[in-house]
Amino acid sequence: MTYNLNVQGYCNLLFPAFPDSGEVMKSEIWKKLEVLQGDITRLKVDAIVNAANTSLLGGGGVDGAIHRAAGPELLAECKRIGGCPTGEAKITKGYHLPAKYIIHTVGPVYSGKPSDSRLLKNCYQNSLALAGENNIATIAFPAISCGVYGYPIEEASEIAVNTSCSFLDSNPFIEKILFALFSRHNYDIYVDTIGKLMA
Ligand code: ADP
Repeated sequence: MTYNLNVQGYCNLLFPAFPDSGEVMKSEIWKKLEVLQGDITRLKVDAIVNAANTSLLGGGGVDGAIHRAAGPELLAECKRIGGCPTGEAKITKGYHLPAKYIIHTVGPVYSGKPSDSRLLKNCYQNSLALAGENNIATIAFPAISCGVYGYPIEEASEIAVNTSCSFLDSNPFIEKILFALFSRHNYDIYVDTIGKLMA
């Protein structure tokens, strides 16, 4: 395993297999999910996902934290990429981060329209597809769109978990998907969501 769970300040929840359920495939998928509370920039995974904006030139929230931690070389590479449409994903090096890569995806600004969920699902799907193309086995997601973009965390967490499980079902090369939540509140919501979806 290449990610480091011993970062101070983190608590992690590893979802156990269901030894008695007989649903081997399903339990293998749940075992690959992990929820953490803390700063995503400190994770030593193959890739962390950035909740970027369409310019890819940095911003506030997790985007700002990732640019600060990765260093100015990241901005230079992002300028060369030239932007990213909502729902799509682009990959850069991790530079000074412990993570080798950064996958930048642009979540929807929450509007209450049906397109919100489609675009947020695309973020997770396209980020994971890019992970597959780059031999990334461990990947950490923040709560995309759940900050300034205003997506309700309960709905967003269901999309994050469901889309990740569907992807894992047909793409076994991913060893671990971590959800890194900054706040205790969002961490608790993810734990609840996974509990409900497992039931
Ligand atoms: P968006 O514009 O997509 O809403 P934000 O960065 O505003 O993106 O927020 C997305 C989520 O990332 C929020 O839940 C916010 O609390 C969280 N966040 C902010 N900084 C970090 C960080 N360093 N690590 C993990 N999550 C973070």
